[in-house]
Amino acid sequence: MPELPEVETIRLILEKYLPGHRIEAIHLKRPKMLRGQSQRLFRAGLKQHEIKSADRRGKFLLIRLDEGALLIHLGMTGQVFYLTSGLSGPENLPRLPDKHTHLILELNDDARLYFRDIRMFGRFAYLGEDDEKALFKKLGPEPLSAQFTAAKLHLSFKNRTASIKALLLNQTLVAGLGNIYADEALFRAGILPKIPAGKLTFEQTKKLHRSIRKVLKEAVYRGGTSISDYVDPRHRKGTFQLLLGVYGREGKPCLKCGTSIKKDVVAQRGTHWCPQCQK
Ligand SMILES: [Zn+2]
Repeated sequence: MPELPEVETIRLILEKYLPGHRIEAIHLKRPKMLRGQSQRLFRAGLKQHEIKSADRRGKFLLIRLDEGALLIHLGMTGQVFYLTSGLSGPENLPRLPDKHTHLILELNDDARLYFRDIRMFGRFAYLGEDDEKALFKKLGPEPLSAQFTAAKLHLSFKNRTASIKALLLNQTLVAGLGNIYADEALFRAGILPKIPAGKLTFEQTKKLHRSIRKVLKEAVYRGGTSISDYVDPRHRKGTFQLLLGVYGREGKPCLKCGTSIKKDVVAQRGTHWCPQCQK
């Protein structure tokens, strides 16, 4: 599932290509994916509007228009592609649109933006200013911003009996972390995923805070993690999967100590850790 580094990679590429484009036509292949919004509202919000920038909040992608924004959440397997006759086509790109392509935006200068999603847990919508405020009201701080501090993080763990893994996945405490980067941050910080969050010392929280920022920055730099469907808008894979310490490595030796990496369900998610390095 795409997490902050994958969505940020997509954003960075779209920011390079989209601003200045005008949305000339909208092909909505699967209106069901417009959850809670009429097709009419969606089309009216987008059609003939100009794209100003590509933004991100947590795992949400926001294509900002001259008025309002197009919201995209990638769900499990969502992909966004940008194609134009002026740019050579990426290699091995599926022939678009295929049956998994649910939204096509025709832009001026013969460019197109596609949203493709095999498992269809993704969603998109037109957001007005008030919709955006309501949607993000409960979302926690951006982990790479100055608002995300070890002190605030520690305070949010206070007296919590839920596992630290569950709280890292809770988007109201910190936005953008998912299963992969939560496991990796806990491994780097030497913290066992199943311990109750309220039991963390401030020293441990400081280490975790640093690990979260570091692992996310490295993953953005590497263009994200491509272990299942994730590719960027130019159909390129990320390379952070080569640097994973625990995620997807169950039964393999820990890169720090050689102990076999364990996997079990914590917070309803497959969770990976080193029984020697994480306490
Ligand atoms: Zn280890």
